[in-house]
Amino acid sequence: MSIRVRFAPSPTGALHIGGLRTALFNYLYAKKHNGEFILRIEDTDQSRRVDGAEDYITTSLSWLGIEQDEGPKKKGRFGPYRQSERKEIYAREIIKLLKAGRAYYAFDSDEKLAELRREYEKKGQSFKYCSLNRNDLLNSLSLSEKETKKRIKEESYVVRLRVESGITITVEDKIRGEIKVNSDEIDDKILIKADGMPTYHFANVVDDHHMKISHVIRGEEWLPSLPFHQLIYYAFDWAMPQFMHLPLILKPEGKGKLSKRDGDQRGFPIYPLKWNSNIGFKERGFLPEALLNYISLLGWNPGIEKEIFELEELIRLFDVGKIQKGGARFDFNKARWINHKFIERSESKSVLERFPAFFSTMSMIKLEKSKLAVYELLKERLFLLEDFKSEANLLFNDPTTYDEKVIKKIENGRPEKALNFIIELIEKNIPASNWKQKLQTWNEKADIPFGIIMQSLRLAIIGSLSGPDIFSVCGLLEKEVTLRRLKKLIIYLNN
Ligand code: GLU
Repeated sequence: MSIRVRFAPSPTGALHIGGLRTALFNYLYAKKHNGEFILRIEDTDQSRRVDGAEDYITTSLSWLGIEQDEGPKKKGRFGPYRQSERKEIYAREIIKLLKAGRAYYAFDSDEKLAELRREYEKKGQSFKYCSLNRNDLLNSLSLSEKETKKRIKEESYVVRLRVESGITITVEDKIRGEIKVNSDEIDDKILIKADGMPTYHFANVVDDHHMKISHVIRGEEWLPSLPFHQLIYYAFDWAMPQFMHLPLILKPEGKGKLSKRDGDQRGFPIYPLKWNSNIGFKERGFLPEALLNYISLLGWNPGIEKEIFELEELIRLFDVGKIQKGGARFDFNKARWINHKFIERSESKSVLERFPAFFSTMSMIKLEKSKLAVYELLKERLFLLEDFKSEANLLFNDPTTYDEKVIKKIENGRPEKALNFIIELIEKNIPASNWKQKLQTWNEKADIPFGIIMQSLRLAIIGSLSGPDIFSVCGLLEKEVTLRRLKKLIIYLNN
């Protein structure tokens, strides 16, 4: 069997991390089995369509390296790939169900249905259009053929699926196993709406069939729809694809699924790219390959110690048997850690070239070689590329404050003497790479603990004890800058 999967987002807003995970799992499954990954835009609900959302989806997927084999912008044999452009196909297919008596026209007004809902509610029940009441309602099953024809011409109508009563529907999900539902729990849902557009359920099934989709991999929220979808397949007498419903992505803590609000409250993105005023993973300085790696672990893991994977490796290791049933907790710190690992292992030159926006603070450095040296010095400290700016601050700006705790530690150890010795080294043009050795021989003679010397130097240059290797920092700084910082601390200590 040839493997064909699809990612079928509705363009109702930005793609969030859950949608990305669905896209990625579909992609990995397709590529693992030499199959095809199709992008289908489910835009039948025009009232919820948001301008720019489709482009956002396409741009996000290609930023992550999830390439489509077929889609609105990648012609294939089964197009068009936007549901709004497939109306004729749905019109043709619904006729088949109507003719076979598996679907029917219904003319009940919205007001009438609302009234029924209210009446049922009063009795503590909920109204459901189904085999128990359809004969008392206005539809082609209860009305004569003549009356039906007349109403079709004159009135607006919907088309509903005729759900048989009292049958057990057994659906099969590859992740969750078999699920049984009694058809009495399902209503005669609408297939074609009054505006002539298909509903999600109908279009989704028709398209999966026409596009020869072999596996449907989608979020858990669609699992309750599966029995109804199965009834549509049965009504057509079509073979069904296999289904896999991916676990929910949960909030970082507590109950419930991850929402945009969690991100807003805790300061992490949930969109890949900027969307209106929402900053995305990209703008925070995630490498796309790192985000992909993190997302792959939301509900799946290959069952080995390793956690850092390139895309090719993910494809090789991906195994749907290892997708978990339970929800996957979103953990921004883990995402940052994975990004850090990718920053560490990525070639520095290529990072500078691929993400120039994060390195604008280095624009006054003329030599590419020097930019590279600065980045190399700091990269092991970066979790997000946006961290570069503050990390680089210590190189580009003199310290404005000194850590008082460090001052207390060094002040009785004659730090000025050590700082003056370093000034001498600079004046003698001794390169910073040789200072350590010089200081090690000098400190015994001068009777100043080596620790005090190092802390004094660090404090002068950076203002605190954190930061990268101090001799490398001094090696990168202009001679005048280093001298200025050393002298500034001496003055401070003297006061
Ligand atoms: N259009 C649905 C969505 O936005 C797709 C559900 C499915 O994959 O069947 O999630």
